[in-house]
Amino acid sequence: MTDLPPRTRGVIALLEQNCTVCMICARECPDWCLHITSHTETVQEPGSARPRQRNVLDRFAIDYGQCLYCGICVEVCPFDALHWAPDFDYPGTGALDGSGAVAELVHERPALGEWVAAVPPPPPLDPAAEPAPEAAQRGGRPGR
Ligand code: SF4
Ligand code: SF4
Repeated sequence: MTDLPPRTRGVIALLEQNCTVCMICARECPDWCLHITSHTETVQEPGSARPRQRNVLDRFAIDYGQCLYCGICVEVCPFDALHWAPDFDYPGTGALDGSGAVAELVHERPALGEWVAAVPPPPPLDPAAEPAPEAAQRGGRPGR
């Protein structure tokens, strides 16, 4: 892959274990290019008095033919399930005559999950930053 700046908006990676299927990203996407479907399951946690409902992801796809690369979905996800990955080498040209190109630009959850490996680690904390209030109460270090 070409050497790109680490914060390049290449593709959006899905860290599936963080996704609670809250649908906030799909609702906030200005272009309706996030396709998410799910179903609910009833689970009985050990020790809990009543069973509870849990969302289970069935489909998570992004249509890069429509995506504006605005980053709103990444910003609004409350569970850090979406991340920019500096990758751009994905299909989308279709056959030689151009047919199939639009379908190729829809990327499903396996591809979105594979891109997680390319997500750069977060930048280091500023050592000169003020300690977070909760860390200060615990006597912790800045940013902890
Ligand atoms: S980057 Fe913007 S347009 Fe693309 S999927 Fe996210 S919210 Fe939608
Ligand atoms: S906002 Fe985050 S947690 Fe909610 S459905 Fe989108 S990716 Fe999943």
